[in-house]
Amino acid sequence: MNLQDNELLHTIVQSAPIGICILDAFTFKAEMLNDKFLEIAGKPKEAIIGKWYWEPFAEARTYYEAAMVSVVQTGEAYYAEEAELMLIRHGSEEIIVVTFVYAPVKDETGKVTKLAIWVLENTRQVKERKAISASEQRLRALVTATSDVIYSVSADWEIMNELDGRGFLKDTDKPITGWRERNVHPGDLDKVNTAIEEAIKAKKIFQLEHRVLRTDGSPGWTFSRAVPVLDNEGNIVEWFGTASDITQRKQIEEALQKVRQQADQQKRVYEAITSGTPDLMYVWDLDYRFTYVNSALLSMWGKTWETAIGKGLRENGYEEWHAQMHEREIDQVRATKQSVRGEVSFPHATLGKRIYDYILIPVLNEAGEVEAVAGTTRDVTERKQMEQALAQSSEELQAINEEMAATNEEQAASNEELTATNQELASVNQQLQEARRHIEESETALRLAIEAANFGTWFINSETREFITDTRLKELFGYYPDEPLSIEQAIAQITEEYRGFVSDKLENAIYNHGDYDVTYPVKGLHDQQLRWLRAIGNLKADPSGAFSAFTGVVMDITQQYLAAQKIEDSEKHFRYLADLVPAKISNALPSGEVTFFNKQWLDYAGMNFEDLRDFGYHAMMHPDEVPEFVEKLREAATKGMALESEMRFKDINGNYRWHLNIASPVLNEEGEITMWVGSTTDIQRMKEEEQRKSDFIGMVSHELKTPLTSLNAYLQVMQAKLGKADDQFIERSLEQSAKQVKKMTAMINGFLNVSRLESGQIAISKAPFDIQELFAEAREEVNPMHTAHTITFACKSSVSIFGDHDKIGQVLNNLISNAVKYSRPGTEIVVNCRLENKQVVISVSDMGIGIKPDDLKHVFDRYYRAESLGHVSGFGIGLYLCAEIIRRHDGKIWVESQIEKGSTFYFSLPLN
Ligand code: ADP
Repeated sequence: MNLQDNELLHTIVQSAPIGICILDAFTFKAEMLNDKFLEIAGKPKEAIIGKWYWEPFAEARTYYEAAMVSVVQTGEAYYAEEAELMLIRHGSEEIIVVTFVYAPVKDETGKVTKLAIWVLENTRQVKERKAISASEQRLRALVTATSDVIYSVSADWEIMNELDGRGFLKDTDKPITGWRERNVHPGDLDKVNTAIEEAIKAKKIFQLEHRVLRTDGSPGWTFSRAVPVLDNEGNIVEWFGTASDITQRKQIEEALQKVRQQADQQKRVYEAITSGTPDLMYVWDLDYRFTYVNSALLSMWGKTWETAIGKGLRENGYEEWHAQMHEREIDQVRATKQSVRGEVSFPHATLGKRIYDYILIPVLNEAGEVEAVAGTTRDVTERKQMEQALAQSSEELQAINEEMAATNEEQAASNEELTATNQELASVNQQLQEARRHIEESETALRLAIEAANFGTWFINSETREFITDTRLKELFGYYPDEPLSIEQAIAQITEEYRGFVSDKLENAIYNHGDYDVTYPVKGLHDQQLRWLRAIGNLKADPSGAFSAFTGVVMDITQQYLAAQKIEDSEKHFRYLADLVPAKISNALPSGEVTFFNKQWLDYAGMNFEDLRDFGYHAMMHPDEVPEFVEKLREAATKGMALESEMRFKDINGNYRWHLNIASPVLNEEGEITMWVGSTTDIQRMKEEEQRKSDFIGMVSHELKTPLTSLNAYLQVMQAKLGKADDQFIERSLEQSAKQVKKMTAMINGFLNVSRLESGQIAISKAPFDIQELFAEAREEVNPMHTAHTITFACKSSVSIFGDHDKIGQVLNNLISNAVKYSRPGTEIVVNCRLENKQVVISVSDMGIGIKPDDLKHVFDRYYRAESLGHVSGFGIGLYLCAEIIRRHDGKIWVESQIEKGSTFYFSLPLN
């Protein structure tokens, strides 16, 4: 067959759906090409046709010239799968991705005479694929980067899609229900559920500190935070969360709380003991500082516990002489381990000058050393006044004397009482010391723990607004350790956006008992460094009732915060991208539940996410394609492979449009499917284009048939007229012409059949017939035609089937012709039939060139030809027609083949 001259081939090349260019194998000059090729090349036809191929494609020459030369030399085709190359298209450089083949076209002697280039552009598809996978990878990488536990749950929190426990919690890498029982401490389940409900309702961040079950089953604490991933309609698609291990912090907080409670309790015991008496009671340490003062003394001083405790005598308003006196006495008690008794007089704030009787006793530690001095003071003014009155009035002396005696007795009793009280006080004081030591120990532990955790700490007095902080807190706010820092100064370092919020929260916590757990950014005063801090505060009324202590910790969570932020951004980015790509993208759980539709999907369906999900995108598929899709998806799921199918989806107006639907599974390391990513591209225009081409081919074939029929008639008449004339040349020419016309008619019939089939014009008229008969007919027809091959028919018994006799015959003939076409002369071809599961299976085996595994799944596609067989003519429609005919008989057709060994084509039909 002559390539240049064959007009039909020209038409085929022109209307092929892929780019084709045919070169002369000696000169590499382009002889024929189609529009599709020009479209991909992005160059005018004049620039290529008739030119040495590498002239217009100079930019690709270095990469592919050698390959092309080798195709001519070796006769082996060269395949480039999704090759990326730079091409100058319409005058500008473009990076494109193409799949192409340099196929040798050989003459009868096997010499390569032409070179066919077939190209298909995949730039867009490859770009889309890369964009999606990159975003996915980025997302994954980010998730792995943070040290916190990472999880993602379904919109309703029922399914935990993924949980990376980081050794803290039990992992799961596939969606599970029942994660609550697995990970949440039963005691906190209600709390967690309520918080989840609220977060879902408000579509706001979920944030909670709660108890968990750790990997080893022991209870721990976590601070868990999850963000809702919203779709365009603002509906939750899933939640993305992090959970940090705060067990240690919680344990410390609990220990601190316990110690505080104990200390408070101790104090209340004291209070109960000492507040009943009008006597003044107090304890000094050896540095003359008050370590305990009872309420009677506090009210006498008009001071609070906080302002009095830890202070010396002078600070508590004692005059110098008075202070010195008691300091001497303290020294004396310390030195002698003996109590000291004395009397003193000084002015009282409201009662005027008063006289006091006091006794100071040593408090001994376990080693018998004095560690503190406890004192009791009694107001004896009245008694003294009486004594004075006695001295003044001798008449009253007796009476007074008597009274005195009585008073003396009283005093003796009261002295005894005082001593007893003092002893009690001494023992209480010992308890106090112990409690304090205990507190100190715990506080040291706490301090160490806080230091280890790098927390900053603070204390705020609600009355005085005194603000005591440690150096770490100052450091976090960018202050030097020795610089003073007030509440207002600290707040000033918070960035403007958050300042008002934090300040309100703080005031509300101190004065209205509001909760205080805030996260905010701070710009350091000196270092100007931006840090994200989390502060947690706790308000406690002071037992004196005079003020409340607001204490707390601040921690630097910059890293976690930024990491969480990044995940959120990346997620957004991903979603944004998903909306940007022209294809419709969806995500689904392995269970099939769809978790994401991009904007293109929602727009196409004219629904919001929930509606589309609940309505089910299966409902949008054309009913004809659903069963096959479901079946194939199940198959793809078991194999963990992507499924590619062409199918119709209904748009917002109820019109079906053709789409290329690719469902790709995302696998985890164990090879299990974690989700499906669906990409659905509208190919309606392509389909229409294809349709137009088919129509065109149909029309052309139809038009060609008429002249061909008359040509055939003329030839026959000429042959008859020639009769027994002697001109052998004319006789042979006529014979050859008739043969060529027959061949051409067969080809054209092929195209006509395709076109009829597609427009539904091929009618299948079924009737019962016997396969054995069919075999006999086929034998008669093919044996004389294909004398170069041995064709064996083996069908032992008669088998009746119900079908279209002619069409099945056509299938059989087609398979036999292919077997002849694709195997060397002299080899054997076996046509067989056997029964299997109420089916008859017919097979045609050859010992020919075989089919490459890559080609196997395509040989039944329309216009598909294995490209290495440039020298065998054909259009790739025979098997397509066979497959369609068998399909319409509810049968199956398939092929098994080994390269260079041979192929066996099978088809099965239900028995009559
Ligand atoms: P055509 O033979 O006209 O190219 P078909 O539709 O009959 O078209 O076959 C499609 C392709 O399948 C062929 O191009 C060839 O690559 C391959 N093929 C078909 N039958 C055989 C066979 N018996 N041995 C090897 N390859 C075959």
